[in-house]
Amino acid sequence: MEPIHIIGGGLAGSEAAWQAAEAGVPVVLHEMRPVRTTDAHQTDRFAELVCSNSFRSDDADHNAVGLLHEEMRRANSLIMAMGDRHKVPAGGALAVDREGFSEAVTAALTAHPNVTLVREEVAGLPPEDWSSVIVATGPLTSPALAAAIRDLTGEGELAFFDAIAPIVYKESIDFGVAWFQSRYDKEGPGGTGKDYINCPMNREEYDRFLDALIAAPKTEFKEWEKDTPYFEGCLPIEVMAARGRDTLRYGPMKPVGLDDPRTGRWPYAVVQLRQDNALGTLYNMVGFQTKLKYGAQTEVFRLIPGLENAEFARLGGIHRNTFINSPKLLDGRLRLKARPSLRFAGQMTGCEGYVESAAMGLLAGRFAAAERKGETPSLPPAETAFGALLGHITGGAAAETYQPMNVNFGLFPPLDGPKIKGKRDRAKAYSARARAALSDWLGAGEAAAAE
Ligand code: FAD
Repeated sequence: MEPIHIIGGGLAGSEAAWQAAEAGVPVVLHEMRPVRTTDAHQTDRFAELVCSNSFRSDDADHNAVGLLHEEMRRANSLIMAMGDRHKVPAGGALAVDREGFSEAVTAALTAHPNVTLVREEVAGLPPEDWSSVIVATGPLTSPALAAAIRDLTGEGELAFFDAIAPIVYKESIDFGVAWFQSRYDKEGPGGTGKDYINCPMNREEYDRFLDALIAAPKTEFKEWEKDTPYFEGCLPIEVMAARGRDTLRYGPMKPVGLDDPRTGRWPYAVVQLRQDNALGTLYNMVGFQTKLKYGAQTEVFRLIPGLENAEFARLGGIHRNTFINSPKLLDGRLRLKARPSLRFAGQMTGCEGYVESAAMGLLAGRFAAAERKGETPSLPPAETAFGALLGHITGGAAAETYQPMNVNFGLFPPLDGPKIKGKRDRAKAYSARARAALSDWLGAGEAAAAE
């Protein structure tokens, strides 16, 4: 059997390779690192997490990304299996030890008899004789390939900015001031109610910090980058700060549900840090993605009570994000209409986030494998998180205003029957409906495989 060629061994490409290989189809996975690297990756491992170590909420009953986790687990996802194996405490969220996680994904792919790993950049359109290709090169697709895709699709490149948050060594945090607590002591699955480190601020400290943040020097944009918008879900902290003096206190620095042990009360504002590795030695600053210059970051973030002597394992940064206009360019099975042998997956399709990228890799891998075996791939029902996200990307979203999107219940078809009042009850109804629909879909796949 001819192999499927997958370009890019990130979250999507690794999952796509696993799914196709598990379906019995040979895969060649082309990953350019370490021959050539990106501005954000730091290792040569597959499925490297370039920023936060969180897969977000693991609550499948009330949260669309939690539901997507569950669907991926049920569909034999490598990313979820390794995420579960290497999870670290994070309240109701699934957060992972980034090193252990990507090492495990790399080991699983290396050991799979149907997977061949090739370390090379595919620096242009793939050769015509690769009859099935999945492009999963992510937001930092190498410039040569990005230019070739732009020429092929005839589209102007679409882009926006994302920013990453700093990581602090726990031992450099002053626990005379900072304390461990989850908001409202919420435990969540696997959580302890004490999963976050909190650094409190009174009004004076907040004002001083805000002034310094707004005044600090930022990384300048290049001329061609100036009209590129931000993704609203990942705004740099200083951009949020400039929107109003209380914006941070109602956003990433909100103090509600956090009792300062020194006063027994909620402080005026709080900076939260979340565990970043299994050892618990590194913590990332939640919501503190930034484009401040490096020197300024150290200066400004050390104004935070408890972080006066903070040492940073990594400072924040900013990067450009590349994605195609999927609703216009792709068919329902993620194939490029102009060249159906090319299929797209991951963040390149305009989904947003580790989990969503891996989920689209999972579907692309399954679709490509089914075609290779002469079967017609069945699409996941629109009622599932898989189907809702796929439908959005491949046609549900307006092509003229297409912007990257996390999975959310707004992408699901409305529920039948009278409107359910509470948000949590509504979410539960979406999840219950999705579960039943997924069972039918997975069952149908199993039936096709058995034929
Ligand atoms: P990637 O995981 O980036 O994988 C793409 C792979 O393709 C890379 O390994 C790259 O080396 C390789 N590659 C690129 N070009 C070529 C080529 N021509 N030939 C061969 N290989 C190639 N999402 C979150 O959920 N949380 C976050 O905190 C978060 N922070 C982010 C921070 C940054 C700096 C960036 C860039 C993105 C962030 N994202 C975050 C968004 C997104 O979820 C991740 O980028 C995710 O890794 C996307 O998965 P992917 O498989 O599409 O791309």
